[in-house]
This record gives sequence, C-alpha cells and structure tokens, in this order.
Amino acid sequence: MKFLFRSTLRFKLILGIMIYFISCSTKRENASDNLAHSIMNIEQSNFGSSNGQAVSLYTLENNNNMMVSITNYGGIVTSILVPDRDGIFGDVVLGFDNLADYLGGHPYFGSIVGRYGNRIAKGEFTIEGESYTLARNNGENHLHGGNSGFDKKIWQAETYSSKDEVGVILTYISEDMEEGYPGNLTSTITYALTNDNELKITYEATTDKACPVNLTHHGYFNLTAGKENVLNHQLKIYASKFVEVDEGLIPTGNLPGVATGNMDFLDFHAISERIHQVDGGYDHSYVVDKKDGEFSLSVEVFEPNSGRLMEVYTTEPAVQFYTGNFLDGSLTGKNDIVYNQHFGFCLEAQHYPDSPNQPSFPNTILLPGEKYTQVTVYKFLVK
Ligand code: BGC
Repeated sequence: MKFLFRSTLRFKLILGIMIYFISCSTKRENASDNLAHSIMNIEQSNFGSSNGQAVSLYTLENNNNMMVSITNYGGIVTSILVPDRDGIFGDVVLGFDNLADYLGGHPYFGSIVGRYGNRIAKGEFTIEGESYTLARNNGENHLHGGNSGFDKKIWQAETYSSKDEVGVILTYISEDMEEGYPGNLTSTITYALTNDNELKITYEATTDKACPVNLTHHGYFNLTAGKENVLNHQLKIYASKFVEVDEGLIPTGNLPGVATGNMDFLDFHAISERIHQVDGGYDHSYVVDKKDGEFSLSVEVFEPNSGRLMEVYTTEPAVQFYTGNFLDGSLTGKNDIVYNQHFGFCLEAQHYPDSPNQPSFPNTILLPGEKYTQVTVYKFLVK
C-alpha cells in the first residue's frame, strides 16, 4: 500500500516536471515564431536639405509589408504602399520622390497643415477683443496656415516602435505671431503604422496665448495607384449635413442637408456620378454624424478595379472632401505620372472653415493650459 502510494506520487511528480518542460518549450517556440514573423521596421535616410538644414525620410514597414514614407519637411507622407485584392502593392498617394520637387511648390501633397487648415475669411479674426490679421494667400482669404505654414517647416523627428506599431513623432514650435497667429504653439504629430494596416495620426498642441488651431493631414489619395484619375472611386460619407460656402469658399453660416442637390454620399456613390453638376467639383466640409469629439468611422472609399478600400476614422467634427479640382497637369509626380484634374482626392479631418468668425460653429480657439488633441486613422483593406 505504502509502496503503491509512493510510486503514484513519484509518477505524478515526473508527469508534472514533464508537463512543465513541454509547456516551456512550446512557449519558447511561440516567442521565436512571433519574432520570425515580425518584420516591422523603420529606416531613416537622407532626403536632402532646405535652408542648410538636413531633412530625413522615414520609411515605416508593418508585419504585412505595408510601407509608409514620411519626411520631417512639412510632415509630408510621400508614399503609402498597400496591396490590391491580388496582393499586388501600389502607391496610393500623390507626391514626389525627392525633396527638390516639394521645395519647388505643390498644393499641400501629403502635408501637415496648420495652424489653421482651410480658410479664414479675409485673414481676420478677433480673440478677447484683440484683432489679428493673417496672410491673405488665397484671393482675399487666408488658407492652410499662410505663406509659410506647417507644411513648409522642418519638424524635429524621433522614431519609436512598440508591439503592434512603428512610428515617427514630429514636433514643431511655432513662435508668437508667426504668420500673424498669437502665442507660442507647440505641436506634436505622431504618425503610426499599425499591424492592422492603419496610418494613425495623433495630433497634440499647447499654446501660451489664446489662438485658433485646426490641424489636418492633406494627403491626396488615388486607390488605383496612379492608373487613372479618381472619378470611378465610390464614397460613403457618414454626414447628413455640409457647410455651405460662397464663391470664395467661405461659409455662409448655413449647414444644409446633403439631400439638397448633388452632395449626398450617405450611400456609396461614384465620384463621377454627380461631380459635373457640382460647381468646380467637390471642395466641401462634410459635418460628420456623431457625438461631439467621438472617434468614429466617417468615410469609406472603394475602388472597384483594384478592390482597395480605405476607411477614415476621426475625432474631428468635419471632413473636407476635395477632388483635386485645381490640379491642372502642371506637376509631374513619382513614376512620371502627370497630375491632371481629379487625379487625387483629399479627406481632411478638421473643424469647419472660418470657425473663428462663425460663433455658431464648434470652437477652434485653444487657450493656455488646454491641450488640443485629434486622432485620425486611414485604414486600408481590400474587398
Ligand atoms: C482646399 C482647396 C484648396 C486645396 C489646396 C483644399 O484643402 O479645400 O480649396 O485649393 O486644399 O491644395
């Protein structure tokens, strides 16, 4: 009896030790398995110089081989390589493969736009009884931060990687009265490429004087990867209202329902379907249906030939849908592609245009002690 008891005990002990070693070796195998499959990577290379300052290009790669290149000049995303439904990779944004072309002038391709993305009527606003005048760089109005906005600045850059993403953190301090804006404004933009094929942009800013802030990303997308213009892309915009504008693209203050006219994208519609009935093409701020500040799916874009689908999620109250109406063939981009009208479209997550002069619009004035935050995600899938 005693012997039987002892031998059962010995057997259990040996079995326990064996199970322990087997589970350890399986764990080790899993860990090395993960390592073997993890190809997330960041590469930094020289992208030239501007005003004697060196500029870098950061190429992020995730575990699915999706690649995003970003330069710290203007925080510009220069390329996004994603697969089509057959697994063939293509570059789905407009831009150049060298700094000189960016320095030569372009309509904000892939840039970070600030301090105020979109228009401010006559470049004027008043805060706390004090009037300010900004550059009038778009007819009589101010556009996208002025003559030398955030898209033309060299940002300080630092890279990071974590379990599920790789990224670049860009910082720029805009001094008091730069381009006419009050206050020293410190902005930090984090570009992250996740293993879910998302380009996630997190914006943060603080100021030491009250000032308007409306940061955005001005990527021009073309999900055909440059094979044709964007008119066959189909869009769904989760917005029942849009910001009505006058001939100068300045808000009238009205937010009509999208059902009036050719503006409705509540169900998927090809851009081509009604663009010719919209004066000048789409260049409108869509008011996203959601609670204040909620991070929500705001736009879906499908390109039927490649099967590429892009989803846009944002915390912002509006998305400016712009169909590259002013592209006129005068710029030739990467791979010698000529950028004719409607060769790219922008989906700029932001506040409404001219908010500092429109008391009924959501507030865009950042106060000292507050923190501006925005999260916007461009996610790539196939269907
Ligand atoms: C604006 C357009 C403008 C373009 C400049 C867009 O965000 O809505 O009106 O022409 O930027 O590239």
